[in-house]
Amino acid sequence: MSDWYPEQNYCTECRKWSQVQVQHRNCGGKKWVNVITGMTYCDKCKKQWPAEISEYFCDRGHVQKMIYTDSAVVLGYGDTVIATVGNMVYVRRRSGAVVVGRRQIHTVAPVR
Ligand SMILES: [Zn+2]
Ligand SMILES: [Zn+2]
Repeated sequence: MSDWYPEQNYCTECRKWSQVQVQHRNCGGKKWVNVITGMTYCDKCKKQWPAEISEYFCDRGHVQKMIYTDSAVVLGYGDTVIATVGNMVYVRRRSGAVVVGRRQIHTVAPVR
């Protein structure tokens, strides 16, 4: 299970992580994410399914889009790396969405 990480939400408005690990809405189990396979896993109902785009409603009422990808994250102009955890990277896109994917980062030069 070395490529599994606790699924965590981040609000780019508050610049804050949610304090709790994301829960599976159907059963209340904790959700884990694997950016190598692009899968989500629930440790209570033991189900696996493709990680999806999700919306995180932070406690101050912001709506944060979280996008999971099984490919390496390409950094574009205006993108910011929020955190790296093992093989996983969290990137804030210029659009405000947070992309979560593999850490192998290619930097793209700004287009002039
Ligand atoms: Zn917020
Ligand atoms: Zn579950």
